[in-house]
Amino acid sequence: MVKDNLKIVRDNIKKACEESKRDEKDVTLIAVSKTKPVELIKEVYDEGVRDFGENKVQEILDKYDKLPGDIRWHMIGHLQTNKVKYIVDKVYMIHSVDSLKLGKEISKEALKKNVKVPILIEVNVSKEESKFGVAYEDTLELIRELALLPNIMVKGLMTVAPYVDDPEENSTIFCKLRELSIDINGKNIDNVSMECLSMGMSGDYAVAIREGAGCVRVGTSIFGERVYDQ
Ligand SMILES: *Cc1c(COP(=O)(O)O)cnc(C)c1O
Repeated sequence: MVKDNLKIVRDNIKKACEESKRDEKDVTLIAVSKTKPVELIKEVYDEGVRDFGENKVQEILDKYDKLPGDIRWHMIGHLQTNKVKYIVDKVYMIHSVDSLKLGKEISKEALKKNVKVPILIEVNVSKEESKFGVAYEDTLELIRELALLPNIMVKGLMTVAPYVDDPEENSTIFCKLRELSIDINGKNIDNVSMECLSMGMSGDYAVAIREGAGCVRVGTSIFGERVYDQ
């Protein structure tokens, strides 16, 4: 079943790329596997997916040792500074950096472990919806400060759009994020590139691709609904 779901998602990505005249190679599918067991993740892995997204440190640690070493783990959820040390050498990219304090902690731990960590800046574009993310207006200033820290590399921007009935409603949000990344790119800040725009989830990844997404984070449409116990 997961296999069929994955095929549908991949077909939709292909279609969205064709419609917007984009190269499929420029869009990375991140399969968001939070709450899902390793057996199911392995099924998706066996279909060729190597990028997986998780939002809890403990869950990454639990799954990390049980699954193949060539998986690229993406930390997409809110990250507490006191937990950075556990994952800094295990994740491929951290999508949810929204403060200087968090950036400093990642830099410090990355330095200790002698790794370089690519990060994305989470921007709160749709103010009313999300608790996390730096304000749109403050993004450039935060990036200028993060750019000075060792062992982290700013690679782009990320946003979480609200859940809406009509995904088209989110196109303005995605478009604004892309505009911001173009602005920031134009500043030519050392150690900063805007090569990755992380936007689009199960409900709206096709719209996000049309607006320039470099990676889409898709959970439910691949793995089915999540069941949280308690
Ligand atoms: C859970 C989650 C997703 C995936 O959401 P779906 O609607 O299940 O595709 C994407 N991004 C973030 C940050 C998430 O927490």
